Amino acid sequence: MELEGTLREHGHRVTRPRSVVWQVLDDTDGHLNAQEIADRVHALDPGINQSSIYRTLALFTEIELVRESRHGDAATWERAHGDAVIHLFCDRCGAVHHHHAPGIERLRRELGAHPGFVTDAIDVRVTGHCADCNPG
Ligand SMILES: [Zn+2]
Ligand SMILES: [Zn+2]
Repeated sequence: MELEGTLREHGHRVTRPRSVVWQVLDDTDGHLNAQEIADRVHALDPGINQSSIYRTLALFTEIELVRESRHGDAATWERAHGDAVIHLFCDRCGAVHHHHAPGIERLRRELGAHPGFVTDAIDVRVTGHCADCNPG
């Protein structure tokens, strides 16, 4: 429903690849890379080719259904979410974790005091390494 409404608002219709890619991202609480998305899409419908998956991700990103994150050469996609999240990027395995950070909403209010500037999105990213990659 959210998919159909947002697509229609931007002059697009629901196609099979669009509905399957959306189903995959909507079912995931976190970030997926291109290979993970392709694997999950193919598990649902082996007939959808790689290029329509990429085109669909580009469209979803453009109409802000999906948030794309780039870290170095790697890209991940996820269902768009609010700003009150800090992205933690693992430099070793490429995993992306969410850290819920209500302080970001405070930051947004603070930024409201900056003369003449209207804050759109706040995107905080932290690099380091995750528990899986931490030997200690
Ligand atoms: Zn890691
Ligand atoms: Zn995220």
